[in-house]
Amino acid sequence: MEKLARKQVQQLTPYLSARRIGGSGDVWLNANESPFDNAYVADISRLNRYSECQPKPLIDAYAAYAGVKPEQTLTSRGADEGIELLIRAYCEPGQDAVLYCPPTYGMYAISAETFGVERKTVPLNSDWQLDLAGIEAQLDNVKLVFVCSPNNPTGNLVKREDIVTLLEMTKDKAIVVMDEAYIDFCPEASTVDLLKEYDNLAILRTMSKAFALAGLRCGFTLANPDIINVLLKVIAPYPVPIPVADIAQQALSAQGLERAASQVAELNQNRQYLSQALSTIEGVTVCEGWGNYLLVLFPDGDALFKAAWDNGMILRNSPIENGVRISIGNKTECEKVIGFIKNFYL
Ligand SMILES: *Cc1c(COP(=O)(O)O)cnc(C)c1O
Repeated sequence: MEKLARKQVQQLTPYLSARRIGGSGDVWLNANESPFDNAYVADISRLNRYSECQPKPLIDAYAAYAGVKPEQTLTSRGADEGIELLIRAYCEPGQDAVLYCPPTYGMYAISAETFGVERKTVPLNSDWQLDLAGIEAQLDNVKLVFVCSPNNPTGNLVKREDIVTLLEMTKDKAIVVMDEAYIDFCPEASTVDLLKEYDNLAILRTMSKAFALAGLRCGFTLANPDIINVLLKVIAPYPVPIPVADIAQQALSAQGLERAASQVAELNQNRQYLSQALSTIEGVTVCEGWGNYLLVLFPDGDALFKAAWDNGMILRNSPIENGVRISIGNKTECEKVIGFIKNFYL
């Protein structure tokens, strides 16, 4: 029946998530998941009733956390669904385009391709910053410009002044979508304050990383009400299962926020520890990283990746030559990775 599928879909290579790639072992540092398995008790009564499209207590809680108004906040099945909603709502298939700057997160490309929307790429420059002139030259038909900061997989922050320049450049023409999936690890770098000045800004957030809820599937889009109302036209009628809203609200309670903050602090410390230890190894370069992962350049990244894999230590290979992305685990996991890599280069 494959030939009945849309051409676009027949030709599509699905996103190779860490989960799909698989692997076996006891150290999982490939999906930027949190090592903290926090316990929750969910209310599973009234499941005979549909959920709210946008549960108000959840929206209010996240808006308060992010420092925006509830009408600037939309919740969806992870930030990934936010990407999809923006493309579906703003890009005419076969006519409009999205633009993004590789190496970066893979889902902008996959979602655009799925909906038959053209993809334009303007690679990041050698410092992994925006090539603003290159972007400006490519803006024809572009409705969405995706910028990931901290960028996955490189880990660096995109310069705020460049984001402002981009917002000015695209005013009344395109929406700049800031993917802030990892911003909770460096909240001072958020562009959320720019929502006041720019109505062509949308920001993606998630509970999957710093809030340790990857399996819950809960994310947010922050933008001015104009954009939020457009997205509400295309979102599914019941996108947030009742237990999901319940658990996400618990994670956003005063207690939940305090716990997340202390886990973020611990992971940032572990990142520092991992970075320092790996940089003492000859031939190994650790890129500065601001999320819960580090991009590390090895003399032979593929060999290191494979050796780790064979030893039950699952890391993530990257499109960057000899670059391997390592998620920040707990202290024991960091120690295991360091021990393995030191041993590999002995
Ligand atoms: C993990 C990740 C997402 C997706 O988050 P979900 O909320 O789990 O869908 C989006 N963007 C980037 C850059 C990510 O790394």
